[in-house]
Amino acid sequence: MTTLAPVDLPPTSASDNQDTGREPSRTGLDPRNVRRGVLEHVRFSRGKNPETATAHDRFMALALAVRDRLADRWVRTARSYYEQDVKRAYYLSAEYLLGRALGNNLINIGMYDAAEQAMREMGVDLSTLVEMEPDAGLGNGGLGRLAACFLDSLATLGYPGMGYGIRYEFGIFTQDIVDGYQVERADEWLKFGNPWEIVRPEKAVPVRFFGRVEHHQGADGRPVARWVGGKTVIGVPFDTPIAGYGNNTVNTLRLWQARASEEFDLLLFNAGDYERSVVEKNDSEVISKVLYPNDAFQAGKELRLKQQYFFVACSIADIVRRYLKTHTDFRDFPNKAAIQLNDTHPAIAVAELMRVLVDEKRLQWDEAFAITQATFGYTNHTLLAEAMEKWPASLFERLLPRHLEIIYEINHRFLRQVQIRYPFDNDRMRRMSLVEEGPEKKIRMAHLAVVGSHSVNGVAELHSNLLKRDVLPDFAEMFPERFNNKTNGVTPRRWLAWSNPRLSKLITSRIGGGWATDLDQLQKLAPLAEDAEFRKAFAEVKRQNKQDLARYLCDTCQVNLDPNAIFDVQIKRLHEYKRQLLNALHIVSLWMKARRDPSTIIAPRVFLFGAKAAPGYHEAKLIIRLINGIAEVVNSDAGTTGLQVLFVPNYRVSLAERIIPATDVSEQISTAGMEASGTGNMKFMMNGALTLGTLDGANVEIRQAVGDENFFLFGLTVDEVLARKRAGYKPREEYERNVELREALDLIASGFFSPEDKNLYKPLVDGLLNEDRYLLLADFGAYAARQQDVARAYKDQEKWTRMAIHNVAQAGIFSSDRTIKQYAEEIWRVKQTPIT
Ligand SMILES: *Cc1c(COP(=O)(O)O)cnc(C)c1O
Repeated sequence: MTTLAPVDLPPTSASDNQDTGREPSRTGLDPRNVRRGVLEHVRFSRGKNPETATAHDRFMALALAVRDRLADRWVRTARSYYEQDVKRAYYLSAEYLLGRALGNNLINIGMYDAAEQAMREMGVDLSTLVEMEPDAGLGNGGLGRLAACFLDSLATLGYPGMGYGIRYEFGIFTQDIVDGYQVERADEWLKFGNPWEIVRPEKAVPVRFFGRVEHHQGADGRPVARWVGGKTVIGVPFDTPIAGYGNNTVNTLRLWQARASEEFDLLLFNAGDYERSVVEKNDSEVISKVLYPNDAFQAGKELRLKQQYFFVACSIADIVRRYLKTHTDFRDFPNKAAIQLNDTHPAIAVAELMRVLVDEKRLQWDEAFAITQATFGYTNHTLLAEAMEKWPASLFERLLPRHLEIIYEINHRFLRQVQIRYPFDNDRMRRMSLVEEGPEKKIRMAHLAVVGSHSVNGVAELHSNLLKRDVLPDFAEMFPERFNNKTNGVTPRRWLAWSNPRLSKLITSRIGGGWATDLDQLQKLAPLAEDAEFRKAFAEVKRQNKQDLARYLCDTCQVNLDPNAIFDVQIKRLHEYKRQLLNALHIVSLWMKARRDPSTIIAPRVFLFGAKAAPGYHEAKLIIRLINGIAEVVNSDAGTTGLQVLFVPNYRVSLAERIIPATDVSEQISTAGMEASGTGNMKFMMNGALTLGTLDGANVEIRQAVGDENFFLFGLTVDEVLARKRAGYKPREEYERNVELREALDLIASGFFSPEDKNLYKPLVDGLLNEDRYLLLADFGAYAARQQDVARAYKDQEKWTRMAIHNVAQAGIFSSDRTIKQYAEEIWRVKQTPIT
């Protein structure tokens, strides 16, 4: 066996720690050394012989061998940033929807082929090991997945970036479907251990909750506020390496876990109250227990605010500690740290940094506030009123008394500015205040984030414009220079190179492999749309991907899908504004027509759904039940209609990776003005699916990029939606007007899809006929017509393939590399720092 040098011994020269260095079984990227590394981990980390090792032991051993190869670059990256004292971008996010790491890490550090060969030589199939890894599901949907894509791009572009968040013990719930209903199960993702993370107890941070504020005069004559009493919780950081693609950068995702404070426990313990000390321990540790499963909705639970402050306080303390290692005052702070707030979930950071600077570091208020503003940027992710975070001032006062004072002081000074700028406009002051007055005083977190930041951005052109026009118009008028757009993107490493190896290989064979880090190069594919041979190969890739998916769904869902049918897919969180119900209504109407006359079906079609509903969102859960009810009926006579419907349970990142490469039609059908950007739409485009969509979010820019002739557009525009609502929208008129719509709704209302309870879907049908907040009925006709166009277009396979190729060719701007470059250059002012 190799003798291992002490791990903390710094290498003496750069060449010393190259892959050919002194620990080849830990750093070597060739199959022989990978194999040695895995075997060593089987023996020394798992304590097993190769013969007794289980598949899980082998997965852990391979993952640890991969982590070894990251560790060396990780140390070099950290040292390089420290020695050059670079400005860093800190991404604060309550969610990271990472998915699996093994395959992505293998791709990014260029050892996929070596790992596959090494495992093959050991008689192990790499893909079965990949499947052993649970998804890291520390997020709900798009917002959390965006954070994960951003980490990948930061590392790949060589930016000094770091993510901060919460190490939830339970991520987004596992979804089972029982009798057509969603049933939630706890996501025990850590049950078998997490090979990627490293705990750093020496960097733990104490966090105070509750207590009171004492005010007195300081020795310097200035007022002093001291937050005392209450209780302390400890934040323990767990670090996960984030490897760049094809470079030596390995950045860090630091997630905080809550631990009970020993001192506090000891007090009770010594007082003889052992039992209570154990119970209190639970109280503290529950903070990082579980991810709140709401997407685009604020439930307003006290524990949620505790989670937010917990990870923010730990992260700010960590950032300040790091800064003070190399600085003695705070003048340079904004030149060394940019902090981005992913939605308002971490917005309390504005008050926390002020508390640290003013109370703990004794800076003057004005100087502290200038530093704070120069440090923070805020990204808004939604236009929905029900998602806007507001916390009762009474809750703040109890949980974070000093922060409430600081927020009031920020507000006081801010409103004075407003008053000077717009005298005698009390209504404007009321609208802009950080405090919402009413029966219950509430703190508006978005206003706090805007006032405390130098940059406010939306996540697609349309969304950023609506943000200025409809959501924060007073702020956009007063601080126009603060508002900007950063259209979302997705990482092509996970969403093309990793998830679609066939298409990746085909693309690379024609234009080379540079696209993986320069996605605009995909444009070189555009002329190949006229190359019959390329079209054939491209269509063959899609056919094989569809066959793979059909096989997988046969094994896991016991359905036989027709791989020659159009694969029409809507996968995303279940929300009424995303209008899965519109899709379902259309399927019912299509099926009714097909039953009467099968020749009305232009092309056979498979409708796939995947979606988790928030556990307390009754309408959303009922829509899942309806889709399953429809699937049961439609699939029973698929032979005559050519229609199939499947709700795939437990939609998550690893499932998206299987479904998207096999998709023909990407359903992006939200009510215009409701989807901030969407990122699923971009993943589909990148994989050669055609979008059927409304003019909402980034669909607008996708259509612009690919051209109207390669996009299936339908539906009301934002302004038409507003106009219809203003004019007094009457959904019943749509129902009366459109026979197909009426028949479909009547069939659902009759209980046809729920024989055991005829009235099951009454709330859904009544909701549509009486209010139809998301204008499904108004858009139904246009949607159905466009679906006809889709089917007709699919009949001309050569034309379809041309359109699909153009979608891939124009996907370059939707790389998260483009997005991150814009954040880095226009907001953060951080510089690429290659690791040698
Ligand atoms: C990309 C992604 C999303 C976001 O999908 P949208 O269609 O943009 O809402 C949600 N969940 C998972 C698992 C994803 O990969």
